Amino acid sequence: MQFISTRGGSLGTYTDVLIEGLAPNGGLAVPAELPRIDAAELDRWRELDYIGLASEVIGLFATDIPRADLARLCESAYGAGRFASPEVVPLSDIGEGLTLVGLSEGPTLAFKDLAMQFLGEGLEYALTKADRVLNVLGATSGDTGSAAEHAVRGRERIAIFMLSPEGRMSPYQRAQMYSLHDENVHNIVVDGVFDECQDLVKRLSEDLDFKRAHHLGAMNSINFGRISAQITYYVWAWLRATDALPEGERAGFEVSFAVPSGNFGNILSGQYARLMGVPIRRLVLAVNENNVLDDFFRTGVYRPRSAEQTLATSSPSMDVSRASNLERFVFELLGRDPERTAAAWQELSATGQIDLSAERHRFESEFGIVSGTSTHADRLATIRSFAETASVVLDPHTADGVKVAREYTESGVPMLVLETAKSPKFADTITEALGEAVPVDPATRALLEAQQRTADMPNDENPLRAYIGEHALR
Ligand SMILES: *Cc1c(COP(=O)(O)O)cnc(C)c1O
Repeated sequence: MQFISTRGGSLGTYTDVLIEGLAPNGGLAVPAELPRIDAAELDRWRELDYIGLASEVIGLFATDIPRADLARLCESAYGAGRFASPEVVPLSDIGEGLTLVGLSEGPTLAFKDLAMQFLGEGLEYALTKADRVLNVLGATSGDTGSAAEHAVRGRERIAIFMLSPEGRMSPYQRAQMYSLHDENVHNIVVDGVFDECQDLVKRLSEDLDFKRAHHLGAMNSINFGRISAQITYYVWAWLRATDALPEGERAGFEVSFAVPSGNFGNILSGQYARLMGVPIRRLVLAVNENNVLDDFFRTGVYRPRSAEQTLATSSPSMDVSRASNLERFVFELLGRDPERTAAAWQELSATGQIDLSAERHRFESEFGIVSGTSTHADRLATIRSFAETASVVLDPHTADGVKVAREYTESGVPMLVLETAKSPKFADTITEALGEAVPVDPATRALLEAQQRTADMPNDENPLRAYIGEHALR
């Protein structure tokens, strides 16, 4: 399968876009043609475990990786106890017609592990084939950095330099990153806020000589490897949700998904699953107070906000006001026309917005997308309510998903809410919601008490350049 840019031009094969990320013209990599999955194939996949299913789904895109190799990559990513649940992604009923899809069984207790664990394997494979090394440079405010570090720790051809803002992450998030002592993991703690960390990354990545000399790259949410790996759990969840139906009723049986969203990466994978033929009725997009995407899906006008206008909320991994993956959806919306897509992003740079209100009526009818916003008060009330009725402690992001999902439930249509993180990561908010501190389990306590290792720096690119110069793989 070949890949193209949303703004025109071809980009090569799957392993090429795995390493490269952004297209040279600023566009994003998308498959030249979306594969189709028919009902008979879905039914054949019913017998597979998560590892086998991942190999089938990712294999639709990764046609340049021999199937036996791909199966081995998926085995390493999802097997051998890396995920706490033997099913990798367990489903559980929480009442009111809602089912939680457990995406947070991985090493960092957030859904990003499902994509990152695969990307770590895939990158190492692609780099070995090309005889290259990669120094991943990134900035994190929490979940992405730890998932990336846990996916590349101990690898031979990848090192990671992850910038984080001093004192801005939860104690649990800090411990997950800073307690890693692998030689190829570099936690760089910057005396500044997240945006300043991101600016430093941007400046170094835009210095093309420096970037090339030090083999710098990224594992961020626009990487198509992550998007493709995430499609697997939409297929998996549909299969598990329909297992109990009489055989004759399974084909075409529709379910809906609710997705706590930030960069639009997770729900985009759901949109691809739907376009590929998985029977998905609605994709319910849930956002927090940073509700740029809810505004977009209600009005058809996309108006991203600046970093200063982005609020710090109690579902911090969704504090995004510029959804980097939205361009891939707009590309589909505009009939996969690279010229219209490029024009839309030109309009954005010229006017600060993209007006797609003429297409708005198609968001739900053609793409199944509806949306809603959840606030701090909603989040707390939702956590409290399900702790009482279902004895489950939702994490704040998942609570946003549940809150909005409740507004769109329909009788006869299972509503599958994606659990994007586990509650111990956000103990303060849980305590606020439940009115009492949640007991800390022994594993969490051990993690919080483990010795931490960081490189501390001022908000200045020169010491960062020197550090990378000294520690980067060559
Ligand atoms: C990253 C993240 C999200 C948002 O996912 P996107 O793919 O950026 O839309 C939601 N919840 C949690 C816990 C996350 O870590």
